[in-house]
Amino acid sequence: MKTLHSFFDGFLSLIYPDLCLVCEENIPTIKGILCTGCQYRLRETKFHLDRENEFTKRFWGRINIHAGAALYRFVKEGRAQSLIHSLKYDGKKEVGLKLGKSYGRSLLESPYFTKIDMIIPVPLHARKLQLRGYNQSALFAQGISEAMQIPWTDKVLVKPVNTTTQTKKSRVERFENVRHSFEIKSPDEIRNKHVLLVDDVLTTGATLEACAEKLVQVENTKVSLATIAIGSL
Ligand SMILES: [Zn+2]
Repeated sequence: MKTLHSFFDGFLSLIYPDLCLVCEENIPTIKGILCTGCQYRLRETKFHLDRENEFTKRFWGRINIHAGAALYRFVKEGRAQSLIHSLKYDGKKEVGLKLGKSYGRSLLESPYFTKIDMIIPVPLHARKLQLRGYNQSALFAQGISEAMQIPWTDKVLVKPVNTTTQTKKSRVERFENVRHSFEIKSPDEIRNKHVLLVDDVLTTGATLEACAEKLVQVENTKVSLATIAIGSL
């Protein structure tokens, strides 16, 4: 009976009418996320199966993280870029939720992303949140939370300082600026806990480092990181 059921589920997912999140063609998608062509061309990193990967190495000598991984490789003009773009600028909230759910299921198979107590998205400043209407990283967090059955919260890590208009600053100045723009509210929520901090894209890692730095200041807190994509430096 179980076999029949899962066969039927598989059949349903094959004919599921959702459009591919990347090309938006009305062709069959895998689990309502991507068509086979886009799935094939989007490069999954599989970093979650290897603890010493390109993602975690980017933080070596900077901050002590437990595990780190990104779902896709971010290539300029590539499919991961269009996914992130539609999530951030075209109001496609389901991209964050669906990718989060899918990645959450993958993380459950990893020996490194275990015993996570809380999922926390990189926060947006209130003004940016108001402009966009949502936090794209929070949607990704929500999807992961659903798949892993682990709570998420946007009430612990906040961003009271707006750092969006810093294009005229140097790289070092920007880094310093980012470092002091996050704050921890209610540290009791994460004391003695393993936190999964999530964001959309990892590039220099300045933002994730600044956030993680705040989180590990709370007594006996362990931090792991996950993003939708990793860009090259
Ligand atoms: Zn497609």
